[in-house]
Amino acid sequence: MKLLSTFTFFLAACSFAFAQSNTYYLQPDRVFDGTEMHEGWVVVVSGNKITDAGAPNKITKPRGAITISLNGTTLMPGMIEGHSHLLLYPYNQTSWNDQVLKESDAYRVARATVHAKNTLMAGFTTVRDLGSEGAGYADVGIKKSIEDGVIPGPRMLVAGRAIVATGSYGPKGFDTDFDVMLGAEPADGNDLIRVTRDQIGKGADIIKVYADYRWGVNGEAAPTFSIEELKLIVETAKSSGRPTVAHASTKEGMRRATLAGVETIEHGDQGDEEIFRLMKEKGVAYCATLAAGDAITQYNGWKKGIDPDPERITDKKVSFKSAMNAGVTLVAGGDVGVYTHGENVIELELMRDYGMDIMSILKSVTSVNAKTFHLKNLGEIKSGFLADLVAVKGDPTKNISDLRKVSFVMKDGVIYKQ
Ligand SMILES: [Zn+2]
Repeated sequence: MKLLSTFTFFLAACSFAFAQSNTYYLQPDRVFDGTEMHEGWVVVVSGNKITDAGAPNKITKPRGAITISLNGTTLMPGMIEGHSHLLLYPYNQTSWNDQVLKESDAYRVARATVHAKNTLMAGFTTVRDLGSEGAGYADVGIKKSIEDGVIPGPRMLVAGRAIVATGSYGPKGFDTDFDVMLGAEPADGNDLIRVTRDQIGKGADIIKVYADYRWGVNGEAAPTFSIEELKLIVETAKSSGRPTVAHASTKEGMRRATLAGVETIEHGDQGDEEIFRLMKEKGVAYCATLAAGDAITQYNGWKKGIDPDPERITDKKVSFKSAMNAGVTLVAGGDVGVYTHGENVIELELMRDYGMDIMSILKSVTSVNAKTFHLKNLGEIKSGFLADLVAVKGDPTKNISDLRKVSFVMKDGVIYKQ
């Protein structure tokens, strides 16, 4: 009951906020603008835009502006989750197979509305949601309900059903007399053009393709589509102005996807310096999803901090190092949904644990993600940019886990948490 009334109050607060076009004068201890840290800066927001940011002696406080003191905090651009599945939740609660096969879309959407709210409250004001995993185009509907102000949540870029090669994807292991619903849409050869267009028509902002999957002779990951097939998808999506992104964990899958012209590669577990250099050369960014591997390994019995690192983890550390050495663009995205929505910061903590410097991680989750995902006027605190702002207690450049201490969330000029 308490939850319900809090929610009702929250909605009332929201509709109030929607009706207002306020001007705010924000005073944190420091501002991370998406590139650099500035001690003592203030930020002015008017309507849904940032109108000024800088040292207080250089900024005139607009008449009637509401001053918000954010003592002890760092103000930064709303964080951008590079790889989410709002329609999934942790596999140690319910296996992926059961979520896809047994749960109704209505049930999954109900859960997703909570996931969306938790994501926003954790300071992630945008997500790139890479596949509904068997829930059709529910992601398109969730995105619209957030945009319409029906439910609180982040801005969304959605991939819809995603594309897999026939025979490769799950759920699997049933009597072949059954036509089992899959976690993504199968297509091959010339049919890929039709399916890509169909997904675009149904609301996909991004085309996601599985360039490899665990369908090898012994269940190991192996490439799925040929380069020619991947090119058909990329070209078809591109002519509509949409990017294609690829799930790939094998080196060959990564190579084919890179040469076919995808914009980002997800996972890349078997990537080495050679393939990451090729990606850099072709302008393909890398989303490592460290947190998904970390979570799944723990679900499989690894006692993190007690047991030594299993092979999957030590291999991933080596591979992530080679990506850093190769200088490929690193976008921040954890495959959240495999683990709990709202715990998105885990990916950033792991990026640090795996050797990335904190300033680069902060850039990655803000300005680098925004640029790579073509998010115009987001990811930076700059005059004219959209007012997606988050304040965290402390200084994340000193301790990245301070990103968990979110005390203020604004999206599109509307305050969701204060
Ligand atoms: Zn994923």
